Amino acid sequence: MTKPVFLVTGGSRGIGEAIALDAAAAGYFVLLTYASAAAAAEAVVQRIRDAGGEAEAVQADTGEWADIERLFAAVDARGRLAVLCYNGGVTGGSTTMAEVSNEALFETVNVNLTGAMICAREAIRRISTRRGGEGGSIIFLSSRASLYGSPNDHVWYAASKGGIDSLVYGLAREVGTEGIRVNAVSPGPIRTEIHSPGRLERIESSLPMGRAGEPSEVASAVMFLASNAASYVAGSILAVGGGR
Ligand code: NAP
Repeated sequence: MTKPVFLVTGGSRGIGEAIALDAAAAGYFVLLTYASAAAAAEAVVQRIRDAGGEAEAVQADTGEWADIERLFAAVDARGRLAVLCYNGGVTGGSTTMAEVSNEALFETVNVNLTGAMICAREAIRRISTRRGGEGGSIIFLSSRASLYGSPNDHVWYAASKGGIDSLVYGLAREVGTEGIRVNAVSPGPIRTEIHSPGRLERIESSLPMGRAGEPSEVASAVMFLASNAASYVAGSILAVGGGR
C-alpha cells in the first residue's frame, strides 16, 4: 500500500528538517522542499531512507507560483496528499521599517504569506472531501513575533506571521466540514540558522525558560496537530515558545 504524502516546505534544515524526520518516522511518504540548499535537502532524504523511511526532495521557491505549480505536480505524481506543513520562511533581515528595502518586503510577504495561501489552496483542492479527497490536515508555521511585533528587528516578518494567524482562523472555519483541520504552531526563539550568529546566545538568559527551543520541540507539536490525537483541534495556534 502506498503511504500518504506529507508535504513539508523548507525541509532542508532547521525546524523543517525535524518535521521531515518525524513525519517519515510516523509512516508518511515525506516530500520536502528546499529553496537553494540541494545538498542539505538530499542529506535529509538520505537520513530518512537510512532509517527505513521514504522521502523525496523538490526544489521550490514558494514565493513563486510557477515553482508551487511544479511542486504540486510532484505531489500528484507521488500519491495522496494527507498533510501540508507550510514551514519554509524568511525574515528579510533585521532593520527598522524606515530602512527596509522593497525587495525584503516583497520577498518576506511572498514566501511567508502569499505562498502559504497558494499552497493551502492547492492542498484543499486535493484533500477536501467535497472535492473527492479523503481529508487531511494543514499546518502553518506562525511565530510568537505575530504578537510581539519584532520592533527594530523585522516588523514586516511579524506582520506576515500575523497574516498566517488570520489565515488559520478563517480557513479552519471555511473547510471544517470538508475533512480538513487547519492549525498553526507558533514558535518562540528556536535554535536554527534563521537567527544571525550569536543572537540566540544574547537573548537566552532573558527567556522564560532560560534557553531557546530546539527544532525537535516544534516538530513534536506539528506531529500532534497532524495526528488523530488532535482530531477535534482546528483553528488553533499552538504556542511553542517556552512561556514567551
Ligand atoms: P531556517 O533554518 O532558516 O530554514 C528555512 C527553510 O526555508 C530552509 O529549508 C530554506 O531552504 C527554506 N526557504 C528559504 N527561502 C525559501 C523560499 N523562498 N521558498 C521556500 N523555502 C524557502 O528556518 P527555521 O528557523 O527552521 O524556520 C522555519 C519556520 O519556522 C519559518 O516559517 C519561520 O518563520 C518559523 N519560525 C522560526 C523561529 C525560530 O526561532 N527559528 C521562530 C518562529 C517561527 P534552503 O535551505 O534551500 O535555503
